[in-house]
Amino acid sequence: MIGLIIIIVITIIAIAIYADRKRRIHNYQLPANTRSLLSDNVPFYNNLDDKGRLQFETRIKDFLANTSVRGVDVEVDDLDRILVASGAIMLIFAFPDWKYNNISEVLLYKGTFSRDYKTDGSGRDVLGMVGDGVMHREMILSKPSLRSSFQNPVDGHNTVIHEFAHLIDKADGEVDGMPEYLLSQPHLLPWANIVHETIKEMKGKRHSDIDFYGAKNDSEFFAVISEYFFERPDKLKEHHPELYALLDEMFRPQKG
Ligand SMILES: [Zn+2]
Repeated sequence: MIGLIIIIVITIIAIAIYADRKRRIHNYQLPANTRSLLSDNVPFYNNLDDKGRLQFETRIKDFLANTSVRGVDVEVDDLDRILVASGAIMLIFAFPDWKYNNISEVLLYKGTFSRDYKTDGSGRDVLGMVGDGVMHREMILSKPSLRSSFQNPVDGHNTVIHEFAHLIDKADGEVDGMPEYLLSQPHLLPWANIVHETIKEMKGKRHSDIDFYGAKNDSEFFAVISEYFFERPDKLKEHHPELYALLDEMFRPQKG
């Protein structure tokens, strides 16, 4: 009997959450200039066909209806919201049903910040962060870094992609560099192997085409290599064909 009551309560809560999500999407309006903001600032959007662009617009609307973007001592405008949503959606665009259920708010800071979220004092070297503890449904991004991520779309660095890659990694319960929602079972072991091999290779060299921050651990590797994949796929394919193939399988599985 208790089991049945629990199932009924869970079902009611799930229906309520689903209905609330639908209501928010229905009520939310994208800014009137969304299309021009996207075509002026997001190459990923420009490279889609007409159908893809419409889908991209729907996905960012869905994202922004359910995730607020708020400035802390800094103004947030339409472009900021569109850029945050674009970075988030680029990563999961190949998965029409995938939604970020583990974030409620993105906070924009006026500059870099420290690991304990402070914008003054020493140790302010963080550009973006997925929150933990009481901040577990929050993400923080430095606004200048958000803007520069899209102003330089082929330099291999994009803080928004980096942080949302962590969020995807986190969605299966652990931030461990194994994005189990993106990789099917047979690919998990090859992925773990290539990550470890590449980190070892990076540590053995003075220079690497991969940002050295990726050698810190498996989860940073996944975030850093995701930036590289979305910004310079050509270069990644040339220098690391096997790694590229696994990432391609991960982010664009339907391509076949
Ligand atoms: Zn990171």
